[in-house]
This record gives sequence, structure tokens and C-alpha cells, in this order.
Amino acid sequence: MLTVNNAFYDYEGQLALNDVSLEVKTGETLVIMGPNGSGKSTLLKILTGFFPLKDGSYHFKDLDINKAFLDDPKQAAKLYKQIGFVFQDSDVQLFNMSVREELAFGPQQLGLPPTEVEQRVADCLKLLAIERLAERVPYHLSGGEKKLVAIGSVLTMNPEVFVLDEPFNGLSPYYRTLIVELLAKLHQSGKTIILSSHHFGQIKDICDRVALFSEQHQIQKIMTKAEILNDPAELAHLSVL
Ligand code: ADP
Ligand code: MG
Repeated sequence: MLTVNNAFYDYEGQLALNDVSLEVKTGETLVIMGPNGSGKSTLLKILTGFFPLKDGSYHFKDLDINKAFLDDPKQAAKLYKQIGFVFQDSDVQLFNMSVREELAFGPQQLGLPPTEVEQRVADCLKLLAIERLAERVPYHLSGGEKKLVAIGSVLTMNPEVFVLDEPFNGLSPYYRTLIVELLAKLHQSGKTIILSSHHFGQIKDICDRVALFSEQHQIQKIMTKAEILNDPAELAHLSVL
């Protein structure tokens, strides 16, 4: 469904992706792991269309996601409709004056009729069990509550693919469990999920495969969950990244 071939990216000379190739299958949950600075966030931003590759190719289904594609708002919208991004830092994502408005923003941008927007917001508040937060200012919420609202703001757009950058970072076990359960539900409903994480323990119940970045900004290997669980050395390594 998503295919990256021989991808290169650098930030003014600072290498971030060094000949990365990866395929993500429809309906799978793929976790990107690897040391700090290895390229995880850069890859996720490429996949969601923040910026184009410097070299190599990225195809989302039959869409060739290159600079010309992303520079054309009509073309780019085809990608943005189908793939949603949850930032590592929720404060970057949340800018509306109430949680209700935050959740409504995406579907409004998609041009959906107001009744449909309201329905999606209501469904999302219920699914996340955050009805009590509907009229609160997102900026004032706790870290865990903000993360749920940030995920909600993507959920209401109902994308096929969810991309989450270190969604468990800084969260209490309570919120980590809630988000794992939510991702499991999305997986069951057929969504494709790509996330980065430092802790295999946190994602072992939901991942299908793990792609491991090296410090050289390359994908060192891609393993299925079974391969990891059957390899004590790999398991130990992935648990302390
Ligand atoms: P990870 O998410 O695995 O920690 P990143 O994708 O954020 O890695 O970063 C990959 C490399 O690119 C690192 O060397 C990082 O310092 C560099 N980098 C990331 N963002 C920027 C930026 N905005 N400007 C310059 N260098 C950056
Ligand atoms: Mg990162």
C-alpha cells in the first residue's frame, strides 16, 4: 500500500534517511524503532507528505508522492485525506479553543456537511470516552488527555492510514493502555497503522512487524513479531532502545 524505495533525506547536510526502502501492507501495524536521531520522525513525516524525498521514491497506492505532487494543493489533498498524522508533541497539533472544535476541524476542512461533522465528533468523543472534555480548552488538558484529543482530531477525518510519532512518550501507564486498546480497535477495523516507539514492551500486543533503524539512518532489518519473540537477544535489545 505504501512503498518507499531507496529514500534519501537530509536537513541542510544533516543526513536523516540513507537509502531506506520499506513496504507497508494494507491493514498491518508496523512499528518503527531505533536510536534517537536515526530517522524515525523524518520517515513518518515523509509518509504523511510533510516534505518530499531528496532522492528515491515514495508511492502511496498509485500516487507518486514527489515534490510536484506535494506542491499542488489539489493533488496533495488526495494524500492528506487518506493518511493522518499524530505528532509526538501534542501542543503542535492542538490549536482550537475547545476539544469539540478541535475534533470538528479536520472534517470541516474536508468539506463535510455540518450534520456529518457533528455526528463524527459525537462518535469520536464516545469512542475515546472524553465526552466530559468536549468544552474544555485543549491547551489546558493533561498530557494524556491532550494525546487522546490529538488522536481524536485525526480519527474524525477517518483516514485509512494512521501515523503516530512516539504516541506513548511521557504518558502514564493508564493512558498508554488506553491508546494501545484504541490502536487495537483501529487495527481490527482494518486500518493501517504506522508508529514509532522506543519500547517493544509497549507495542508487542499490537505490532505485526518492526522496522529497526540504525544510527547510520538506514533500516537495519524488518522483523515480524514472532521472529522477535523467538529471539531472546533481539527481544532484549528492542526492550532497551
Ligand atoms: P528520530 O525521530 O529517530 O529521533 P529524526 O528523524 O528526528 O530522528 O532525525 C534524524 C536526523 O535528522 C538527526 O540527526 C536529527 O538531528 C536530524 N534532524 C531532524 N530534524 C531536523 C531539523 N529540523 N533540522 C536539522 N536536522 C534535523
Ligand atoms: Mg523522533
